Amino acid sequence: MNNREKKIIVGNWKMNPPTIMEARRIFGGAKRAASKIRRAEVVICPPFIFLSALAQSAKNSRNISLGVQNIFWETAGSYTGEISPTMVLSTGAKFTIIGHSERRILGETDNQVAKKAVLALKLGLRTIICIGENSRDEKGEYLNFLKNQIKNSLQGVSGKLLENLIIAYEPVWAIGGKEAMRPGQVEEMGIFIRKILADIYEQEAAMKLSILYGGSVDAKNAEAIVYQGNVQGLLIGRQSLEPESFKAILEVM
Ligand code: PEP
Repeated sequence: MNNREKKIIVGNWKMNPPTIMEARRIFGGAKRAASKIRRAEVVICPPFIFLSALAQSAKNSRNISLGVQNIFWETAGSYTGEISPTMVLSTGAKFTIIGHSERRILGETDNQVAKKAVLALKLGLRTIICIGENSRDEKGEYLNFLKNQIKNSLQGVSGKLLENLIIAYEPVWAIGGKEAMRPGQVEEMGIFIRKILADIYEQEAAMKLSILYGGSVDAKNAEAIVYQGNVQGLLIGRQSLEPESFKAILEVM
């Protein structure tokens, strides 16, 4: 089984945990669990401040990589408070999330997402672009919203840059909630997203892209979402901070 066939399980720690000690403990759990599974590669995205310490711990481990939750669209310069993809790569991290809904709520635009994605992909970071509707309406306007969001967030991402691109479909209404989307709906949305990608790129390239699902995934629903929902992996928030739950999710992959 090569890396492309493995499911991709990404833990998004958001602005947690409060201390480096806690971060080491949670990461240790993920590392042990990741070393025992074959059918998934595990990616942990901690806050930037913990990245270097955890990178040391990840160095000789099997099946686990680090990523970040955001990057900037320039490699260096007068951008107070920002972190460049070059810096991220220098720690040994391999992934970045871009355009998470919690950043979009703070004002991040599709245009900024696209600029970040182009640079990250050019530099060789595996880039997870998050997309997803805020809510649903009976007329299906949310599908148009999603179509525009995907097209605009991929502006300037040429076909040549697709090798390291991953799409995370995260319906915003399912993030941080009680219930995930049903696997049948996840599958339908995956087909819809791939159709939009096939409008932008070649059909074959669109078929090869990995699509992840995110939003209230837990150990009970993870297997059905991945295997009935027909997605290539999961983006997991809260449950990635709970070592036992995260381990249980990895075990059903
Ligand atoms: C997320 O933060 O991307 C997410 C999906 O969160 P949760 O799993 O907690 O819903």
